[in-house]
Amino acid sequence: MLHPHSLYYDHLKPEEREFLKQTTEFAAREIAPHAAEWEEKEELPRDLFTKAGRAGLMGMLAPKSVGGRELSMLGYCLAIEEIARHCGAFAMNLAAHNALCVGHPLGFASDELKRKIFPSVLNGDWMVAWALTEPNAGSDTGGVETTGTPQPDGTWVLNGHKIYITMGLHSDRMVVMAITGRDEKGKKEFTAFWIHTKDIEPVRKVKTAGVRASNTSEFYLKNVPAELIGGRGKGQHAALACLDGGRLGIAAMAIGLGRAAVEIAKQRMLTRRQFGKRIAEFQALQFKLADCEVELRAAEALLLQPCVMHARGQKFSLEASFSKLYASEAASRAANSALQICGGWGYTRDTAVERMWRDARLCEIGEGSSEVQRLIISRALLKEAEERYGLAETKK
Ligand SMILES: Cc1cc2nc3c(=O)[nH]c(=O)nc-3n(C[C@H](O)[C@H](O)[C@H](O)COP(=O)(O)OP(=O)(O)OC[C@H]3O[C@@H](n4cnc5c(N)ncnc54)[C@H](O)[C@@H]3O)c2cc1C
Repeated sequence: MLHPHSLYYDHLKPEEREFLKQTTEFAAREIAPHAAEWEEKEELPRDLFTKAGRAGLMGMLAPKSVGGRELSMLGYCLAIEEIARHCGAFAMNLAAHNALCVGHPLGFASDELKRKIFPSVLNGDWMVAWALTEPNAGSDTGGVETTGTPQPDGTWVLNGHKIYITMGLHSDRMVVMAITGRDEKGKKEFTAFWIHTKDIEPVRKVKTAGVRASNTSEFYLKNVPAELIGGRGKGQHAALACLDGGRLGIAAMAIGLGRAAVEIAKQRMLTRRQFGKRIAEFQALQFKLADCEVELRAAEALLLQPCVMHARGQKFSLEASFSKLYASEAASRAANSALQICGGWGYTRDTAVERMWRDARLCEIGEGSSEVQRLIISRALLKEAEERYGLAETKK
């Protein structure tokens, strides 16, 4: 049987294949033996990030000139997928770090700021968080209320309240989205800032259904000194640019979780006996397995397309939405089926299936929920059809 990754491998450079081999070894050595314990403690150890940085996992997409590994989007996604097979929480942290926390300053910060923060951001010395969400601003980022205020000496301070921020309280530095004014039409002006995490006021680690080892945080910003990233008013454009890659990372995380859950289910089917036979002989379970495989392969195919477009320098926002939407829902279905195949044992914490099932669910919510992806997709389809058929309505 042709392994789906063999198709991917044709698109990878030899050094990327070597990196993926090392990532597989890293995951088996540093993550697999401890993932259940981290879940129980609801915490990832700090030195995991240091080790990940040294292994190149904290700077996968960044160019070599700043200390990164310069992987293609495909190489990056395959690495996230590999990590997610063992620990969804850590895969999510790496995905957020690489696409948003590194991607944002890399693409938009001044050379001076870049010189100051790289390579500490890439080599595991600094953990970084990326803070957009607030109590009144989730899918609707127009609800952001955190303000950035210029000071007479040319510096800035931030005031506001952020929630559900990955790595928030455990990070060393943070990218924060804030409002710095309104344009002539009254629309909020978004600006990105770089801050030192020591200056925030912690509220709590938010307890989550899945990805429990991840530090999902709530905190206040009270007159926090901040540096501009990419100029005043440039925050929204930059955030959207970073979210394209972010969504592919979440798609890859979902696929890794779905695949890992199904692998456990296969082994259970071949070892568990009921009614005098292996449960693998029950057609009801065989069909579940077949559906999982087809859907995960479809998700892999949908992930390849935007990765190839990225490599060609083409815009891939819409394709990132297809991929994120399908992969996250397919992975949830696969993990759910895997749990059902494993029966009562699947629902216990004696196996990782229930953890993968809970972790996969996050992928349908974070970095743009499934509903938001459907909005993006349907709007793009209708806009294109409007133009193609000349059916645009004239504004009254
Ligand atoms: C574990 C975890 C980690 C996270 N990490 C980060 C992070 O690091 N940084 C960060 O900034 N944020 C982070 N988030 C926040 C995450 O991005 C938001 O939860 C997500 O964008 C959804 O926003 P919300 O939770 O406010 O849901 P809401 O926006 O309140 O949505 C509620 C429901 O309404 C639906 N909905 C909303 N608008 C529409 C619409 N127009 N049409 C149809 N349906 C709609 C949604 O799909 C959802 O089903 C994290 C969240 C979690 C749970």
